[in-house]
This record gives sequence, C-alpha cells and structure tokens, in this order.
Amino acid sequence: MGRLDGKVALITGGARGMGKSHARHFVAEGARVVIGDILDDKGKELAAELGEENCRYVYHDVTSESDWAAATAAAADAFGTLNVLVNNAGILRNKKIADMTLAEFREVVDVNLVGEWLGVKSVIEPMRRAGGGSIINISSVEGFAGAAGLSAYSASKFGVRGITRSAAQELGKLGIRVNSVHPGGIMTTMTATAFEAFADLADEAGARFLRSLPIPRFAKSAEVSPLVVYLASDESSYCTGSEFVVDGGMLSGPGY
Ligand code: NAP
Repeated sequence: MGRLDGKVALITGGARGMGKSHARHFVAEGARVVIGDILDDKGKELAAELGEENCRYVYHDVTSESDWAAATAAAADAFGTLNVLVNNAGILRNKKIADMTLAEFREVVDVNLVGEWLGVKSVIEPMRRAGGGSIINISSVEGFAGAAGLSAYSASKFGVRGITRSAAQELGKLGIRVNSVHPGGIMTTMTATAFEAFADLADEAGARFLRSLPIPRFAKSAEVSPLVVYLASDESSYCTGSEFVVDGGMLSGPGY
C-alpha cells in the first residue's frame, strides 16, 4: 500500500529539479500527479516516463490566473479530484540591490510569491469539494535568513511563510492543511552555477562554508521529496501552519 494511495496532486515547476523528484516519489507512493511547468519538452518527457494512468503534463505559468484555472481543471478532468498542491515553481536571480532593476525584483516576487498565493487561492474550491487537502508551499532557508545578492529571492521566500500561516488559519476548518518546506542547498539546475564555487575545493570560501555545515555537503532532490510526501499524506494530519526545514543543519548555527 502506498502512502499516497488515492491522492491526486498538482506539482508546479514539476518538469525538472526538486519538482520532478517529488512527482516520481508521489507516483511511487500511489498518487496520481499533474505536473505543471513552462518547460514543455521536459514536462512531457516526465509524464511519459511516469505513464498516462499516473501523470499528466500541462503548460502552467504560475503567474497566470487563467493557467491556474486550466491546471486545476486538468487534474479534475484526468483524475476526478484534487487533494494536494505542491507550490514548487520558483526562480532565483542573484544580483545586489544596487545592480537590480525594479523589473527584475518584481519578476522574482511575481513567480515565487504571487505565484504561490494564486496557487493557494486556486485550489480552495477543488479541495473543499474533495473534502479537504494539503498545500505544501516551497520556501527556502532564505525564508529565514537573507544573503547578499538575494534580496528579491529572500523577500519572496519570507513572504511564503506569511501566506502559509494566514492560509492555514483561513482553511483549517475546511480540512485544508497548509505548511511550508525550507530546503537548504539542493543540487539542481537552479543552483548549479551558484554551487560551482563550493564544489571547487580550490575555492577557499566555498570549501570553508561547506565544511562549516553540520552535514558538510549539499543534498540531492531525493532527500527533500520524502518530507513533501509526508506533508501530502494523512500521516501529517495534525500539521498545519508549520515550517519544515531540510537543510543539513545550515540554519542551526554559524558553525564556528
Ligand atoms: P529548478 O530546477 O530551476 O526548477 C524550478 C522549475 O520551475 C523549473 O522547471 C522552472 O523553469 C520552473 N519555473 C520557473 N518559472 C516558472 C513559472 N513562472 N511557472 C511555472 N514554472 C516555472 O529549481 P529547484 O532547485 O528544483 O527549485 C524548486 C523550488 O525549491 C523553488 O521554489 C526554489 O526556490 C526552491 N528551493 C531550491 C533550493 C535549492 O538549493 N535548489 C533551496 C531552497 C529552495 P525555468 O527553467 O523556465 O525557470
């Protein structure tokens, strides 16, 4: 028996990186999944790998309200209901405030924060009809601490915590749970360039940072997915409005 038997999930930004890993774990645990993304080729490839009976791909830009309506309708059409939303799509732009344009700042906030808010808004009715559900908002360790070059990213990820807590307050009585997940350094396309410096042990600062972590390495996406499965499943039936960190201990202290 799978931990997600009978559940139907929508995973945004699901064509690659952590979203792709979550989709694979969900299907392995018995869920049926709609993956949304703006990367059509990769999305279709993953859906074919997971099989039509388990997975559908839809083009879904999380900043578009009409794309949200189409994606939730696609879940209902394909699998009859919608029980889980993984608000995973996100972008990172590494630029100091002095160099960042207003448009660049807004783009990050639009995808990472407005996109997740639209997601919560869009699944209320389908989840109410389903008798409840679980919304998992992907934030970051940057939702707890800022970093040079990440003002927009960090602002958006702090904001996700506010949406999560408010939504948990609003939706609990409908049986809809809302939690956030805060990954640390996970090796994906998003972080590949940023982590190159750390991987190069000749880079003193990078190597020192890695050594300072209680678990002195970056993680694979597959080390985050089981937490997301837990929050999607009924095993987490008493968890809502909470923040779940998976960061190798990064936030636990400065590691002197
Ligand atoms: P990723 O490999 O870049 O995957 C993110 C996916 O979202 C990509 O397929 C991306 O497509 C898509 N996307 C971007 N804009 C979108 C939009 N407007 N609508 C729909 N999809 C869109 O990144 P990841 O590392 O797996 O990140 C997944 C989530 O975890 C993000 O929210 C990220 O902020 C968060 N996170 C990541 C880390 C880390 O270390 N990797 C740490 C903490 C939190 P494009 O290629 O077109 O951008």
